Amino acid sequence: MLLFSRGGGFVKKGCVKNLAIVLVCLALAAAGVAQVTVVRAGRLIDPDSGTVLTDQKILIVGNKIEAVGKEIAVPADARWIDLSDKTVLPGLIDCHTHLADGNSIENGEPFNVLKKTASQVVLESVPNARVTLLSGFTTVRDVGTYRALNDVALRDAIARGDIIGPRMFVAGAYVTITGGAGAMTGQAPDIQLPWDLHYGEANSPWEVRQKIRLLAHNGADHIKVLSTGAVLTHGSSPNATEFTLKELQAAVDEARNFGLKVAAHAHNAQGIKNAIRAGVASVEHATLIDDEGIALAKERGTYLDMDIYDEECIQEAGEQGTLPADFLEHDRDLGEKQRQNFRKAVQAGVKMSFGTDLGVCPYGSSPKQFAFMVKYGMTPMQAIQAATSNAADLLGHSSEIGSIKPGKYADLVAVSGDPLKDISILEHVEFIMKEGTVYKQAGAEACRK
Ligand SMILES: [Zn+2]
Repeated sequence: MLLFSRGGGFVKKGCVKNLAIVLVCLALAAAGVAQVTVVRAGRLIDPDSGTVLTDQKILIVGNKIEAVGKEIAVPADARWIDLSDKTVLPGLIDCHTHLADGNSIENGEPFNVLKKTASQVVLESVPNARVTLLSGFTTVRDVGTYRALNDVALRDAIARGDIIGPRMFVAGAYVTITGGAGAMTGQAPDIQLPWDLHYGEANSPWEVRQKIRLLAHNGADHIKVLSTGAVLTHGSSPNATEFTLKELQAAVDEARNFGLKVAAHAHNAQGIKNAIRAGVASVEHATLIDDEGIALAKERGTYLDMDIYDEECIQEAGEQGTLPADFLEHDRDLGEKQRQNFRKAVQAGVKMSFGTDLGVCPYGSSPKQFAFMVKYGMTPMQAIQAATSNAADLLGHSSEIGSIKPGKYADLVAVSGDPLKDISILEHVEFIMKEGTVYKQAGAEACRK
C-alpha cells in the first residue's frame, strides 16, 4: 500500500522509519512548529565563489537555510542528516524545460495534444514533474506549453504541495508569429483550433504587447518569444527569422513593465542578434550564433542557454523512425554546429546557463547534459555554476536559490564522489532536499515509488 505524504513523496506502508519521520513532519507542520535540521556535509560546493568547503554543517529551519559553517550553534532537538561521506551541492536548476505537455510529445508529434483534453494533458504531466525533481532538479524555468496555462496549473499544484515536483517558473504560452515556431501548425486552414492552442500568437508589436499583458495577468513568471523558426515544428525552418527586431523590442519593453524577463528561442545568427539587441535575458538554443553574436552576448550580459545534449535523443528518435521526417530534415547538421558554437561561447566568456529543452529527451534525463558541457569546453565547476548560481541569476532569484547560503531555500542535493573530477556523477544524485523536505535519500529509496 502506498501513502502519499505532503512534500514527502510516496511511502510504502511497513517502511516504519520513513513513515514515522513523515508523520512527525506533518505533526510539526500542523502545530506550526518549524522543523530544525542539521545537514553534515563532507564536501560542499559553493558555486558563488567556485570553491569547495569541507566538514560543513548546514542549519535549516523550516524551508530556509539559517546558517552554514564548520562551527555553528545547533539546537539540541535538531534532526541530523549525515552526508559527511558525500559532496553536497545546491539544488540543480534546468532553465529550459517543457514539463506541462503531458506525454504527448514523446514521439515528437505536436498534433498528439489534439487527441486529449487540456485536463488529461496536465494530469499526464504530474509524473514529468516528479521525475525531474527526483533527478536532482529542485527548480526549473519552464519555457512554454502547447496548451496555454497548463504550466501555471502544474506550478501551482506543486507549490501547494498537492503533487511533488521542482519549483517551477513558467511562461504560460509561446509568444509566436502565426504559423511560427511556437504555433500549432500543419493542420488544414479551415480547422479551428481551441483558444489555448493559439493563445500566444501575435503579428505586430502591439499584438505582442497585448499577449504579454494577458500572460502577465494570468500568472506568467517570464515571457517566451520565438525569434526564429524551429526544428520540432511543421512548416517552420530554423533558418527563418520570425519576429522582427521591432516586435522583439516591444516584447522586452512590455515584459519589463510587469517585471518579467524575456527568453528568446533562436537558431539562426540574425534571429539571435535581433534578440540580444532587443534586450532579452537569454537566448535559447543559440545554435548558429556567429562571432558577432557571441561578442554582442558578452557585451550585453545576455545568457546563452544551449541545449547541447538533446541532439542525442533527436538522432536516436530518427533512427527509430519515431520523429516526423520534416523535423529530422530541419535538424540536419545543427547539433554538431551548436556544440562547436557552445565551445566558442564558453571560450569567449559569455554568461552560460543550464537548459536542456527537457521533453525532447525523456523526463529525468537533464543531468546527462553536464558531461556534454564539459566535453565541449566547460570546467566541471563552470557546468555546475551554469545549473546553480548562473541559473538563479538568469531567473532573477539569486537571493533565494542557486547556492547554499543563509536566507536561501533549503534546496540541496548530494552525490558520492567528486563531481569536479567526474561530472557524470551528477547523473546519480543520492540525496535530494527541496525547501527542507527530503525527497530522496540513499537507503530510503526502496521505500519510495
Ligand atoms: Zn524548448
